[in-house]
Amino acid sequence: MSDCRREIVTIDGPAGVGKSTISRRVASRLGFTYLDTGAMYRAVAWYLRKHGVDTGDESAIAAALGRIDLELLPAGGEDDDVGVVVNGEDISGEIRSPDISMLASSVSALAPVREKLTALQRQAGERGNIVAEGRDTGTVVFPAARHKFFLDASPAARAARRARQLRERGEAVDEEKLLEMTIKRDRQDSERAIAPLRKAADATLVDTTDLSADQVLELVVAKISG
Ligand code: C5P
Repeated sequence: MSDCRREIVTIDGPAGVGKSTISRRVASRLGFTYLDTGAMYRAVAWYLRKHGVDTGDESAIAAALGRIDLELLPAGGEDDDVGVVVNGEDISGEIRSPDISMLASSVSALAPVREKLTALQRQAGERGNIVAEGRDTGTVVFPAARHKFFLDASPAARAARRARQLRERGEAVDEEKLLEMTIKRDRQDSERAIAPLRKAADATLVDTTDLSADQVLELVVAKISG
């Protein structure tokens, strides 16, 4: 069945652009399920590192993927990240570290990883009423989704926003390093051969550089409702 009759909202964009905040709020406003596809790539990265799997060895990767039982837990609140459980172990906190961000970006370029996670994401979207967030949800995972958005902002604005978030949580921040990592991750995500970070031709582009989260939310909801 084509997915054009199901209500699927896709929200893609580069690192730190505010996709998660907006996606969670849009989902909550519409009463839809929020699908954090980045959390799935983070979980796979965590597993491969934990088990020392050689990411250059396709058959080792395929075998490891077969051993991963991945479960997403709903976010506790509108401003909380979703939880992730792998083979019964709650790794929700561990997958949000900067080194897992970079590793997720590397392993997400591997074909078997994308195949497995894309299939799981499509399965999650089968019943519709979903807000999917990531890099390729509008281009590859749900190409026929009814509502597609691509959020963007300058790298400096994104790094500054992320630094503010971390400081609010009481974490130490090196803003220059953050900017460097943001740029590196975007480059990796945009230049990979399979499902690169890209705006779908039919996605609405929202430049969030000078907008508050509330303003972006209203813009997205108005477009969906309109
Ligand atoms: O969105 P988040 O920062 O959690 O994503 C972590 C990494 O997972 C991204 O940098 C990207 O490499 C990968 N990813 C992806 N496709 C998606 C979502 C995330 O390749 N749909």
